[in-house]
Amino acid sequence: MSVDETSKDSNSKELRVKYLEGLVQWYLFGMETLTSLGELQHEAGVKDPRETFRICQSHLERILRFEVFGFFLVNDGDNDFILEQWTPDEAKANIQSEVDRLIEDGTFSWALNQNRSVVVKSRERDKSIILHVLTTKSRIRGMFYGVVSDETDNINEAISYPLSIILQNTAYALESSYLYGLYYEQNRSLEEKVRLRTLELEEQARIMKEEISYRNLAEEALMVAKDEAEVAARAKGEFLDNVSHEIRTPLNAILGFCEILQYEMEEAGNSDFKDELKSIDSAGKHLLSLINDILDLSKVQSGRMELHIENLDIQSLAQMVAGSLRPLAEKNENQLLLDCPKDIGYMMGDETRIRQILLNLLGNACKFTQAGDVLLSVRRNAVRGRQYVCFDVSDTGIGIDMEDQEGLFDEFTQADSSTTRKYGGSGLGLAISRRLSRLMKGDVTVKSELGKGSTFTLTLPLDVSRSVKTTPDFADEPARAPFDYEWKEPSLSPEEPRTQSSDEKTLPAERERDVILLIDEDPMVRHLITRFLKKNEFEVEMASVQEGIQKALEIRPWLIVIDLKTDSLEGWSTLNNLKNNPALTTIPVILLSLQDEKPKSEASGAAECLRKPLDWELFLKTVQTYRKPLESSAALLVQNDLICREMMRKILVMEGWKVLLAESNKVAFTSLEETIPKMIILDLTSSQADGIQFLQQLSKIEELKDVPVLALSGNELSLEERSDLGDGVVKVFQKGNYTKAALISETRKYASKS
Ligand code: ADP
Repeated sequence: MSVDETSKDSNSKELRVKYLEGLVQWYLFGMETLTSLGELQHEAGVKDPRETFRICQSHLERILRFEVFGFFLVNDGDNDFILEQWTPDEAKANIQSEVDRLIEDGTFSWALNQNRSVVVKSRERDKSIILHVLTTKSRIRGMFYGVVSDETDNINEAISYPLSIILQNTAYALESSYLYGLYYEQNRSLEEKVRLRTLELEEQARIMKEEISYRNLAEEALMVAKDEAEVAARAKGEFLDNVSHEIRTPLNAILGFCEILQYEMEEAGNSDFKDELKSIDSAGKHLLSLINDILDLSKVQSGRMELHIENLDIQSLAQMVAGSLRPLAEKNENQLLLDCPKDIGYMMGDETRIRQILLNLLGNACKFTQAGDVLLSVRRNAVRGRQYVCFDVSDTGIGIDMEDQEGLFDEFTQADSSTTRKYGGSGLGLAISRRLSRLMKGDVTVKSELGKGSTFTLTLPLDVSRSVKTTPDFADEPARAPFDYEWKEPSLSPEEPRTQSSDEKTLPAERERDVILLIDEDPMVRHLITRFLKKNEFEVEMASVQEGIQKALEIRPWLIVIDLKTDSLEGWSTLNNLKNNPALTTIPVILLSLQDEKPKSEASGAAECLRKPLDWELFLKTVQTYRKPLESSAALLVQNDLICREMMRKILVMEGWKVLLAESNKVAFTSLEETIPKMIILDLTSSQADGIQFLQQLSKIEELKDVPVLALSGNELSLEERSDLGDGVVKVFQKGNYTKAALISETRKYASKS
């Protein structure tokens, strides 16, 4: 090889070494640039796009000498490309117009799809424009716009590759920044939501707290109101008890005097005021039954009504109720029928209350039916394994409108106002009946059609559960019958006592003749009984059932004996007529019957009911029990109320008693020092403590301790109160619950005793 050739060869080697050195340096620079890109991601993450563009620009400047930089961002709303940042400041208009031109000639859209640098000539001929899309995998974020001089137009792969990487990183940094913004925004709105919700919950908690405190207050107020209501209910009950007692007292006096007046005027053959006295009598009785109803209602409402549950013969009960309603049925020309199976058996229930309900239902049926049928039918019924007794009271009367049936069982409700005018009544009967039946775990229901008739059904469990409040029955006086005359004596108002001698002048002691009236159809029996009584030195007169009342009015016997026929109701209706006649009501009646009719006879006002064939010894003893004293027997009446004392005195005097009066314990004992009476009537109404003191003192005196005492009480006595009275008290009459006839019958038991 020549020298020239050798030097040429070494020159080209030098050039190649230089080129390779330059290339290595370039690659090292490229590597360094790429490693510094992390800054872009890191710094751009949280900042706004302009900061990202600034960092990107500083990196790009190291690769190429750009004269102009422009960064476009895609607007989220309309997808338009907005120039966000540019360098130098005055280049904006030029960039905008160049880009408009490139959009128009399609270069811009071409560049969008390339994901690499697209180089085009600028309008200034010696310059080139580089467009590079800023895109991530999922979406385009913007466009890079750069201008370089044509000298650097030698943009080879070694330049364009890092350029693309930088701009792609910029696109990802923009996306991160955008997502971060989105995340930040969502976070902020979530925080706001949480804040608002927390406020809402706090408000709700506050409202709830307030509500709870209001509720607590309301609960307290309710408790106070409940206590007050209970006190008021108790006060109402006591008030009703007191007021009704206050009303009953003078009312009883009015009725008692009315009866005496009726009797005396009839005796004197004077009928001047007969109708007026009858009106007073019936108005008084209506008022009395109204007061009794109100009292009953108040007792049931306040839970003070006590039940006395006992074993009852259902058939006898039904017969007794139907029997006592017969006169009322006949008054309206109604036929009263009873349909009760013989084998219906027994039930556990409160006889007085069941009778009260049935008498009300049957009484209504008779009242609202004219010349029709009234039927009491009794049946047993099983509902879901429980046994019930149903009493259906049907009538063919006026019936009740469907609308009016709804409020029928409310207090003081009548089907329509015309009913009150035409038929009277208070509208309390059904209300009481339903409440009583429910108290016994039963009910009263109605089915009725206007103009056709009604059926009221009393349903009661065969065995009223033991959970029902009950009371022992010690006062065995006959139960109240609403159509029987009820005599209750007054009390209170201390006034001057009247002298005994002047009273006896006013009323003759003996009005009844010393004769027994025997009412019987059968001549054989009549003969037999008459012979027996006469043999025992009684005077006897006889009458058939038809002439019974007339004969009684004529001869005024001291005792009446009625022989009942099994297949006839005439004996019962004679008894009813006797008891409804003021002149005859006090005469004791002994019934003779083949069956056990005791409950029915008691309810109808008979003094005794003896079974046939007669136990003659018992018959004689019973007759003697009611024998009037042949000469005046003394009775002591301890009562501080003048009107009441006066009433009772008159009745006893008419009975033939010699009456000793005492308005206080002290006066009573003074009187007892002189005379030992055959009996003492003691009124406990004004002061039970005084009464007990009197009885205790009495029991300590040897001569007096066996004198029988009849006590009169204003209210039902508990078993304890009854035992406080001691054994000397042979009978307690509860005011409002006994008949005058019952009282007289009782007094006669002691008249002839020595
Ligand atoms: P009273 O009969 O004293 O008015 P009740 O409570 O016993 O009170 O009855 C309320 C009303 O129900 C009566 O006034 C009457 O209008 C109606 N009523 C009750 N029973 C019958 C009946 N059997 N037929 C027609 N109406 C009746």
